Amino acid sequence: MYEALLLLLPVAAASGWFAARRGVAVKSQKQPQEISPVYFKGLNYLLNEQPDKAIDLFIKLLDVDSDTVETHLALGNLFRRRGEVERAIRIHQNLIARPSLSREQRAQALLELGQDYMRAGLFDRAENLFIELTELKLHNEQANIYLLEIYQQEKDWKRCLEVADRITVSHYPALHNSIAHFYCELAEEQLRQQNMAAAESFLKRAQHMKRSSNVRVLMLQAEIEYTRGDCRSVIRLLRQVEGSDPAYLSETLPRTIECYRKLGQHQELYEYLEQLYQRHHCTEAMLILADMIADSQGEGAAVEAILKHLSDTPDLKGLERLVRLNLQRSEESPRETLEVLLSSVSKLLDKEPAYQCEHCGFTAKKIHWHCPSCKTWGAIKPIQGIGRSIKG
Ligand SMILES: [Zn+2]
Repeated sequence: MYEALLLLLPVAAASGWFAARRGVAVKSQKQPQEISPVYFKGLNYLLNEQPDKAIDLFIKLLDVDSDTVETHLALGNLFRRRGEVERAIRIHQNLIARPSLSREQRAQALLELGQDYMRAGLFDRAENLFIELTELKLHNEQANIYLLEIYQQEKDWKRCLEVADRITVSHYPALHNSIAHFYCELAEEQLRQQNMAAAESFLKRAQHMKRSSNVRVLMLQAEIEYTRGDCRSVIRLLRQVEGSDPAYLSETLPRTIECYRKLGQHQELYEYLEQLYQRHHCTEAMLILADMIADSQGEGAAVEAILKHLSDTPDLKGLERLVRLNLQRSEESPRETLEVLLSSVSKLLDKEPAYQCEHCGFTAKKIHWHCPSCKTWGAIKPIQGIGRSIKG
């Protein structure tokens, strides 16, 4: 509350302290006020940690002298930053109700109140205020940025694109990436409804935006080809993910592998996985290779391959597979030990998040293209394994 006290000093000044000190000369220019007893009362409430009563009193002070608008704006802002949103709303609503505010002061109060509503989760009310600001052509860009935030929250991607179109992209470099993801979201909607042509047209627009959405565009294009039954195109598209961002390989490998198998190209698949493993030490590639080795050369050879992998790259998924393979091969006595080992490794794996945001560190069990924590697009990537970099 100490910050609030500091903020209220100018209220005291405006409400009469200076006027009183400057005496008679001031009296003729401006209606002088004695240092307001209301101010002291408010100060007392603040000191006694009764901010609601203090706010009521300071709102009264505003009636006395509207020069205190800036202070009230700052006080409301301070309450919002402290998470006391209801108080911020009361202060800003009260300001807006004053007919004496200038156009600019009212717009500033609207912008602040809109942010209060957003913090309180009252998106409809916030949206109306920001739309009003854009219509008034006041704080236009800022209001559009907040509208964009609201429409992303509501997953209204068409409106996101409309608003993004009104923002100067050069001022917000990350906007290119966001716009590409809006198109990807629309493409996903069309894909779910089996409208392949519409999905492709949104993906083309996404491609025109920034490179960072490339992986998602490739994955969606591959899904379209998969629905059409064109396994060769799926493989061609998903193999490009390695060049765009190998961190996503574990995400795209299951579909790639499925398509190789559908085409009966087992040798090609084996060679591709070996290349991936050599280039990126990709655990997912290793595990599929181990399965293929077990089928063609027996479980002993698969165990050897995984042991070699674990000696280079310790990781929990590899360890789990090793125990599982040994369990299949083992006799009664070590079996019990292996079962306990397998169950504890599996439990550890279950607890591990599979994805992490490289921007804010948020971890998740499934992929989110839009980080729920820091709201960055395309920053959440698969984690390769325990203690391994998400860059793969
Ligand atoms: Zn994040």
